[in-house]
Amino acid sequence: MNAAAHGDLKLDYQEFFFDAIVIGAGGAGMRAALALQQAGHQVAMISKVFPTRSHTVAAQGGINAALSNVTEDKWQWHMYDTIKGSDYLGDQDAIEFMCQEASQIVRELEHFGVPFSRLDNGKIYQRAFGGQSQNYGESQAKRTCAAADRTGHAILHALYQQNIAAGTEMFDEHFALDLIQDQNDHVCGVLIQNLHNSELKVIWAQHTLLATGGAGQIFRTNSNATINTGDGLGMAQRIGVPLQDMEFWQFHPTGVAGKGMLISEATRGEGGILKNADGEAFMVKYAPKVKELASRDVVARAIAIEVEEGRGCGENKDYVLLDLTHLATDVIENRLPGIRDICLTFLGIDPIEKPIPIFPTCHYMMGGIPTNLNGQVIQPVYASPQSPITENQITVQGLYAIGECACVSVHGANRLGGNSLLDIVVFGRKAAQFISHQLQNGKQNSERPTAGHNLNTLLNRYQRWHSETSNEAENQDSIFAIKQDMQKIMERGCGVFRDQVHMQQAVESLRELEKRFAKVTIQDTSNVFNFERTSALELENLLAVAKATACSAVARTESRGAHTRVDFTERNDDVWLKHTLFYPHQEKIVYKPVNMQPKQHEPFAPQKRVY
Ligand SMILES: Cc1cc2nc3c(=O)[nH]c(=O)nc-3n(C[C@H](O)[C@H](O)[C@H](O)COP(=O)(O)OP(=O)(O)OC[C@H]3O[C@@H](n4cnc5c(N)ncnc54)[C@H](O)[C@@H]3O)c2cc1C
Repeated sequence: MNAAAHGDLKLDYQEFFFDAIVIGAGGAGMRAALALQQAGHQVAMISKVFPTRSHTVAAQGGINAALSNVTEDKWQWHMYDTIKGSDYLGDQDAIEFMCQEASQIVRELEHFGVPFSRLDNGKIYQRAFGGQSQNYGESQAKRTCAAADRTGHAILHALYQQNIAAGTEMFDEHFALDLIQDQNDHVCGVLIQNLHNSELKVIWAQHTLLATGGAGQIFRTNSNATINTGDGLGMAQRIGVPLQDMEFWQFHPTGVAGKGMLISEATRGEGGILKNADGEAFMVKYAPKVKELASRDVVARAIAIEVEEGRGCGENKDYVLLDLTHLATDVIENRLPGIRDICLTFLGIDPIEKPIPIFPTCHYMMGGIPTNLNGQVIQPVYASPQSPITENQITVQGLYAIGECACVSVHGANRLGGNSLLDIVVFGRKAAQFISHQLQNGKQNSERPTAGHNLNTLLNRYQRWHSETSNEAENQDSIFAIKQDMQKIMERGCGVFRDQVHMQQAVESLRELEKRFAKVTIQDTSNVFNFERTSALELENLLAVAKATACSAVARTESRGAHTRVDFTERNDDVWLKHTLFYPHQEKIVYKPVNMQPKQHEPFAPQKRVY
C-alpha cells in the first residue's frame, strides 16, 4: 500500500504492475486484451461495468465483410462504399486496411464461437445495409454478417469467454480516472477506483490502451448506454491530446420516437419501408435509386425534413412510421426478434401487425482520439498558429486508442452501418499485435515505471469529490441538473440540422456550464457504489466532449456527412477536405490533411454523393 498526503485527506492506493493495460472491455478492448494475453503478456483489462454489459452488447444489425455468401462481393467495393459513405473525409489507407482484413476477422470470430445466423447452405447469413454496393456503386450488395439482430451480444460474449480461457486479468467495476505520465510525459499507467468501496489503485505499464467507447450521452435523445460518457476522450484531453473530427455525430434514422432506443438498420435491410402521415413511402424523393438503403445521414435528414414540413405522424406530427407489416412473419421472428422485443416492451406494439413510430436518435461518434493504424495516439506538430495545417505528427509514447473512442478515421464524416463492429475488432487486434511486437523487442519489463510525474495532480483532482458538502446556496445546483442542461444545449445547437447562431449559442452555454461545474458539490460522500461521485467524474468528461463538438462544428463552414448546416449547404472540398483537431486550451483548432493515398488500390477522388 502506498500513500500520498493531500490536505487533510490521506489517499492510499495499491500498486500493480502489468505489461499492458486495456481500459475498456467492449469489443475493442476484449479483442485487444485477448491478443496480448494469447501472445504471453500480462494484461490488465479494466471496465467500469461487468465486461458483457459494455455497449457493444447492444449492437444489433451486424458486421460487414465482403464474404460473397449472398451476393458477389470484393473488399475493393467495400472500400469504395466506405469512402463514399464517409463523404471523402475517411483516411483511405485506414479504410483499405480495414476492408482487406474484414473477411478473415469475421471467420476468426466464427471460430471464437460467435453463433452467426446461417444460410440454407450453412454459410454465414449476410443482409443488405445502407450504402452497400456491388461494382463501385452499381447495385445493392448484401455484406452485413448477422447473428439475428443480436450480433454485438454474440460477439461480446464470445470474446469474453475467450478472455476467460486465456486468463486475462480483469478489473471489473473499476473506474479509470486519469492517465499517469512519467517525467518525459510518456504514459506509464492509470489511476483507477474500485466502485465497490472507492479504493484507489495505480496500475503501471509501459503500454496503455484506451478502449472506452462512445459518448452519445452528450445528447438528450440517444441510442447509447448511460455509461457511454467519453471517459477516454476526457482522460486523453487532460494530458494534452487533441480530439479529432468531433463535429461529426451520426444520428441514426430509426430510433424509437421520443425515447431514442435503436431500431436496427436491419429492419430496412430486410425490406422495411418509411412512411409519412399521408402513407407516402417518401424515401424515393430523397434517394430514388436505393431509397431506404441510402446512407444514414441521408435517411436521417429525409425524416427530419418530412417532420419539419408538417408530414409527421401523431398528435404532435413529430415522427414518421417504419412499416414492417408486409414482411413475412418468420422474417420478423427469426431475423429481427430483438427489434420485436423492443417494440413490445417500450411501445406495446407488435411490428408484425403495426408500423413503428420512429425519429432520428444520436447514435455514434465518428471523431475521437487521433491514432495511426497501429492504434498509437498521434499529436500534430505544427509550425505556427499562422500556418495551422500540418502533416507532421508524433506519437504519444505509451498511449494507444481503439474502437469508438478512437479516430483512426475509417468513418470520416459518416459511418456506414456494420462498419463499427468491424473497426473495433480489426484495430483492436492490430494495436495489440503492435504492442506485443514492442514488448518482444526488448522493452518487456526492462524498466518498470514506478514514479508518476503527475500523480499528485491527479489525486488532487479526485479529492474534490471527497470534500464534505458545502453550504446550501451552492448545493442548489447538482451534477444531474448540469447534465440535463448540457443534453438540451447539444440537442438544440448541434442536432441533425445546424446553423451558426445555434452552434455559437451552444458554445457559450457550455462555457457557462463549465463555470457551474467548477462550483458544484455532491451530496453523497459514501464509499460504496457512490453513483453521484461516478456521475460527477463522467460529467466532466461529457462536458469536454460536448465542448469539442460544438467548437469544432461551428468552425466548419460547409455541409459534409452528418454535419449538415442550413447556412452552408454544400460540401466544399477546396477548403474543408481536412480533419479538425480541437485542443480545449484556449479552444484552439488546427487542421490536418485527409490521407487520400491507399497502399494498393487507386485513390478515390471526391465525387458528388448520389444514392
Ligand atoms: C444500440 C446500438 C446498436 C449498434 N449496432 C451496431 C451494429 O449493428 N453494427 C455496427 O457495426 N455497429 C453498431 N453499433 C456501434 C457499435 O456497437 C459501437 O460503436 C461499438 O460496439 C463500440 O465498441 P467499443 O469496444 O469501442 O466500446 P464499448 O462497447 O462501448 O465499450 C466501452 C468499454 O469501456 C469501459 N469504460 C468506459 N469508460 C471507462 C472508465 N472510465 N473506466 C473503466 N472503464 C471504462 C466500459 O466499461 C466498456 O467496457 C451500435 C451501437 C449502438 C449504441
